[in-house]
Amino acid sequence: MGPVQIKQLLKDAQVGQSVVVKGWVRTKRESKNAIFIAINDGSTIHNIQAVAAPGEIPDDTLRLITTGSCLNVTGQLVESLGSGQAVEVKIESVEVYGTADPDHYPLQPKKHSLEFLREIAHLRPRTNTFGAILRLRHALAFAVHKYYNDNGFFYLHTPIITASDAEGAGEMFRVTTLDLYNPPKNEEGKIDFSEDFFGREANLTVSGQLEGELGALALSKIYTFGPTFRAENSNTTRHLAEFWMIEPEMAFFELEDNMDLAEDFVKYVISYALEHCADDLAFLEKRQAEEEKNKPQTERSMPLLEKLRFVVENPFERLTYTEAIEILLKCKPHKEKKFQYPVEWGIDLQSEHERYLVEKHFKKPVILTNYPREIKAFYMKLDEDGKTVRAMDVLFPGIGEIIGGSQREENYDKLLERVHEVGIEPENLWWYLETRQFGTAPHAGFGLGFERLVLFVSGMGNIRDVIPFPRYPKSAEF
Ligand code: ATP
Ligand code: MG
Ligand code: MG
Ligand code: MG
Repeated sequence: MGPVQIKQLLKDAQVGQSVVVKGWVRTKRESKNAIFIAINDGSTIHNIQAVAAPGEIPDDTLRLITTGSCLNVTGQLVESLGSGQAVEVKIESVEVYGTADPDHYPLQPKKHSLEFLREIAHLRPRTNTFGAILRLRHALAFAVHKYYNDNGFFYLHTPIITASDAEGAGEMFRVTTLDLYNPPKNEEGKIDFSEDFFGREANLTVSGQLEGELGALALSKIYTFGPTFRAENSNTTRHLAEFWMIEPEMAFFELEDNMDLAEDFVKYVISYALEHCADDLAFLEKRQAEEEKNKPQTERSMPLLEKLRFVVENPFERLTYTEAIEILLKCKPHKEKKFQYPVEWGIDLQSEHERYLVEKHFKKPVILTNYPREIKAFYMKLDEDGKTVRAMDVLFPGIGEIIGGSQREENYDKLLERVHEVGIEPENLWWYLETRQFGTAPHAGFGLGFERLVLFVSGMGNIRDVIPFPRYPKSAEF
């Protein structure tokens, strides 16, 4: 079906073979004896070189072959004399599908800043960097499905439009069919949502977890993998307003099993990328080294492939929140400066604390457990002491939190107490509470932010550069 892609063509190359190459011109170079055109179709980081002798391509066609133009080339595979490739295409005919006027095409063959590329999200997939990231992103997503499928999980589609705020953080995007310039009002003068298409408040989901739990309490092991929305004013390099989350949820799993699964799962998907994205990762490793070449040696990252292998081959450190606080209280993070945000038992850890633990103290991924109940969501199972909950956060070097999870409270009375404590109306969660009244069971699960994973594996510095069309406050319009 369709033409053979360049990746396949380079793999199966046989000198003498007739070929058709369709793709976008990366560079064109003319010398006295030959014209060289580097073509890429996005299937691989590698270009294929097409060659013609001067005069073999009619002048009015040659003029149209510029960086960014799209070609349909027919020719023969010949051995390449140049370094860097084994074969090249000796051109027999060229058709220009689409031109790209060099005076206006923004992606000329030079280095463009990531900020500039964000402004042209419609064209940036044609760069080497974004081609590599998008192929890597695909491979990681595929590995996620493969991992869960191979381990007996069912892919559950949770709703995008929902009334529940699982995290209780009030970061939901409202969905409405009402004319908000002229909304229907009730007797108290408030907007009357009963007139809305859904007849009540509706929001974009912040997490599929609560619905995921319903699936686990029927199918035993499920996972979700879908878009998630948070209306947080997230001007950081780790937050997006729209991101993808993977949320496995398992009946009959306790906190230990949950940690084992999280560690095994993350290691699997990273190994999968190492195995299947070798060329793109090698490119991204070089790119990162290039970006950091002006930094002092001590501030440079570990080479990308070495970092990924290290994570796959070493056990994650596991400790409780209370133990982590003791470490943080004793440490001197920077010789003379303390943490910006003071440490005491009960605080929500800030990224400076998380990164100290991971990057300076343990020098490996860390799983922190048993956080104070006050700083975690209502659905987490209380520990015996009543002070902490069976939460776990997985923290990664250079990133901080990559996974948040917990064993869930399966006891109806305790859950109801927590619901009251955090001020949720139990009527709004009647369906969730009922699962604890009918056939409740111990269960656990977690959420992995997919873009944080891609960020880590790609070695990029900003989450806006690992999703095709990033959504953040005042992002580009497409
Ligand atoms: P953070 O502390 O970094 O704001 P969180 O604790 O609010 O994250 P959770 O509600 O625990 O996040 O969501 C589970 C996972 O989803 C996180 O561990 C993270 O990987 C990812 N995540 C959360 N918020 C965002 C966001 N705005 N953009 C991208 N990923 C996110
Ligand atoms: Mg958050
Ligand atoms: Mg957090
Ligand atoms: Mg969290």
